[in-house]
Amino acid sequence: MIVVESSSELREARGRAGGGPVVFVPTMGCLHAGHMALIEAARRHAGSDGTVIVSIYVNPLQFGPNEDFAAYPRTFEADRTACEAAGVDILFHPPDLYPDGAPQVRLSVAPELAGCLCGAARPGHFDGVATVVAKLFHLTAPDAAVFGEKDWQQLTIIRRMAADLDFGIRILAAPTVREPDGLAMSSRNRYLNEDERRRAPALHRALAAMRERAAAGERDAGRLIDIGAAMLEAADITPEYLEIRDGRSLRPLTRLGDAPARAFVAARVGPARLIDNLALTPEENSP
Ligand code: AMP
Repeated sequence: MIVVESSSELREARGRAGGGPVVFVPTMGCLHAGHMALIEAARRHAGSDGTVIVSIYVNPLQFGPNEDFAAYPRTFEADRTACEAAGVDILFHPPDLYPDGAPQVRLSVAPELAGCLCGAARPGHFDGVATVVAKLFHLTAPDAAVFGEKDWQQLTIIRRMAADLDFGIRILAAPTVREPDGLAMSSRNRYLNEDERRRAPALHRALAAMRERAAAGERDAGRLIDIGAAMLEAADITPEYLEIRDGRSLRPLTRLGDAPARAFVAARVGPARLIDNLALTPEENSP
């Protein structure tokens, strides 16, 4: 594995990649089993003659002024060891991707995709994500890139960005990796104290209860949301949102029908803002 810090070193290393597929996994570091599953998927997809590139960069563009950019955990030495063990070929760890200051040309994601769910509470967040991912796509020029279903809205936006801007990059989705009690793994879980950690799996329990009721025939989205909301309340968690939407278009659904229905939740548990999502209908799978 080689570790590169500058864009020019990255381009050079990328240029030396062999003939097999180049597969890219962008991350903000503090790697956990969720990230490692993405890296393993990338390794499988690249095969023995391909190249796996991982980036570790805490992207300032996607944090709001009162968010946790400065406090976001940075654990580079452990991350480097994990990447090496997972068979990563190139690890890109830039100190700064914007040496000339904040970029003056950025991507803008339509409100239909970026104005709802996490985007409603985090204005500009997905523009910041799309802008940095586009930049990383140009630098790494991969054949495919892997994103986690845990950040479903982000995955949807990146798929759409790759299609709308003709990046010619295949977007692969990896299922959410969870703790044994159902809590979705997240770098932000380390912000939780013992009591908060005990309450946090209620997010997944609420979504799982909604899925169960949907499987038993409940079609009314409002009634399903009431079921999830009651489970959150029992754990003393007030959701920032708890919604059912079409998993492809992110349009809200009032009834479960032909569209691939997905339930989405975000809530603050102590200092951590946690998110999760789950398919309510079995037909919606990773591409
Ligand atoms: P982050 O470092 O939080 O920007 O995440 C980097 C990538 O890892 C994104 O594509 C996330 O969706 C993905 N990811 C984060 N947590 C998980 C998880 N628990 N399961 C699967 N993928 C994840």
